[in-house]
Formats: sequence, structure tokens, C-alpha cells
Amino acid sequence: MSNYFRDNIQAMSGYVPGEQPGDNGFIKLNTNENPYPPSPKVLAALRRAVGASLRLYPEPMSAGLCAAAAAVYGIKTEQIMAGNGSDELLSIILRCFVGPGERVAYPVPTYSLYDTLVEIQAGISVRVPFPSGFVVPDELGRQDTAVTILCNPNAPSGTLVPLPEIVKLARAVAGVLVVDEAYVDFAANEGASAIPLIAQLPNLIVLRTLSKSYSLAGMRIGLALASTELIAGMHKVRDSYNLDRLSIVAGTAALEDISWMQRNTARIRRSRQSLATALTRLGYEVYSSHTNFVLARQRDKNLRPVYEELKRRKILVRYFDTPGLRDCLRITVGTPKELRILLDELATIAV
Ligand code: PMP
Repeated sequence: MSNYFRDNIQAMSGYVPGEQPGDNGFIKLNTNENPYPPSPKVLAALRRAVGASLRLYPEPMSAGLCAAAAAVYGIKTEQIMAGNGSDELLSIILRCFVGPGERVAYPVPTYSLYDTLVEIQAGISVRVPFPSGFVVPDELGRQDTAVTILCNPNAPSGTLVPLPEIVKLARAVAGVLVVDEAYVDFAANEGASAIPLIAQLPNLIVLRTLSKSYSLAGMRIGLALASTELIAGMHKVRDSYNLDRLSIVAGTAALEDISWMQRNTARIRRSRQSLATALTRLGYEVYSSHTNFVLARQRDKNLRPVYEELKRRKILVRYFDTPGLRDCLRITVGTPKELRILLDELATIAV
């Protein structure tokens, strides 16, 4: 076949998302969805929004959603941009700041979509290994980058870097610093978010998603928060109508009912603790998690057979066929009942 693609697109393999088997009896602990439903107020708002107005384009800037987010996060509406999931915002950021041959650094292992997005730009990925303990690597700030990304809390380790480290990193890097806070609402400590730092750090972009803590993965709603100047520039790259009418309605209603989210994240934190304890009893090493998943390791043993046997028994967890992670399973914190079934099955699978 002729190659019509740009060389870098031809050469890349593309991101492989976690399996989405549909509604056929799987206990789904592989893509960090929230096991609890969205707020009833979100569902009611969506029902009200389904009607003839769907023939009209949505509000292009998702203004109502950004205003609701501004009220929650205590910053100006002009400092927020909504995206079709935070994945779209990551893509917009790379398109804004990274040209061919430009460098993007991030500590690894982390969210592997970053690799894909850099490949699409024909940029250069600078993958700096996390030291043990998952602290910020010293060299990360010295990589002469257009963009540096810190996933915090990190996926798949679940570990959290404290704010003073982020301030130091933002001041050290050459370009913008993106802090991907997809999971920060699950952090054990209040005040883990870098959003308050935006006022003092002109190169900081914080990403949030409503997919996890607000139980809205199916609606695709993300938020970028940064200085007015950075957000204004990013709007030039965004598709005109990147969020549909229903997503704007759902996101706004979710942010107006923050107590629903907080109740669910509190439940998940409690289940996370019992899951970690039980996995430790089963002989797994479990990293201290600030997210809605745990990374469980059996040092130097390939856990693919365990993943496959669980799948055969209709339980999906995440196995990463990548160096350094083959002895791990990443397990989403489901309901107490789902976790009981998982643990009962795991206890009968030889490693
Ligand atoms: N960042 C991280 C670290 C994630 O794990 C995910 C979910 N896969 C995302 C961003 C994207 O989330 P969404 O596009 O659903 O907002």
C-alpha cells in the first residue's frame, strides 16, 4: 500500500485504550471509572436538555461550565478551558506548544498517551525514569523542553508529589509545565491540587477531568486551568464546538453538586485502604495510592497469567506489557462487593 501518511504517523503504532467489553457481566476494574453513578441532579439536567434544542450548536466556549468550574476552583472563568475529556486538552496543549523536533519531558512510568501525542507532533519524548518512591527526578527540570508533564497523582503508581516540588519544577523548566490532576480528588490530603499555584506560575497548566471523581467518563468532560494568556492562546487551537450541548449541561450540574462527588471519593478512599491491606496479605507489594486505583506488584514475576485468569473469570484489571510494569496489576477501586469477589478469586490464583 502507498504511504500517504506523514513519516511520524506511518511509524507510530497509536494509543491502545483499556478494554471496554460493554455491559456483559464483567467486573470492570481496568480503566479507573467510578463505580458509583453520577449525581441525580446531573441525570435530571440531562433529561431536561434532551429535546428540540439539540438541533442548535452548543455554546462555543462552554461558558456556563467554565463559570461553574471557576466558582468551584476560585479562579476567573477566562482562566478555564473545557475539553472533550482531558485527553483532548492534552492534545490541544501539544499542538499549541510542540513543533517537530521539540522536546517534551515526563517522568515514567506514567500515562502512556503522552508518548502518542508527542509522536503525532513529531516531537521528541524525554522519558525520565522516576526514582524509587516516585519523587520528582532531579533531572526533569533541566531537559530544555517545550512542555514538561507531571501526572499528579501519577498513573499507574498512584503516588503524589507535594506542591513545593511542583513550584520548584515550574521555575526550573524551560517551557510550560502541565500538571495532569485526573485523580487528585481522590488524594488523601486536602490541598494536593496545584490550582492555587496558577496565580504565581505563568507557565503552569493544570488539567482536571470529570471522568473519575464525578463519575462522568461517558460524557467526556475535561478542564484546563492556567493564566488568562495561556488559555486565550489555547482557544485558537480548539475546535469551535468541542463540547456537545449535553456534556456542557452534565458538567455544569456536576460541578454545582460537589458534595455528591465528595461523598463518593470518601467511600472510594475507604475501600482503597481495605483493598491495599487485603492485597498486601495476599503477598502483593502495594504503592501508597492517592487515586481510585492501586498498583499491586509481585516483584520480578510476570503477572500476565494472573490478568488472563481473572479475565477468564469475568474480572478485568489492567496489565501493562511494558518494561518495569510486567510484574504489576493496576486495579481500579470498585464497590466493596466487587472488591470482595476480586480478592476471593485472586486468593485462588497461583502466581
Ligand atoms: N490523564 C490521566 C492520567 C488519565 O489516566 C486519564 C484517563 N485515562 C486522562 C488523563 C484522560 O481522562 P479523560 O479524557 O477521560 O478526561
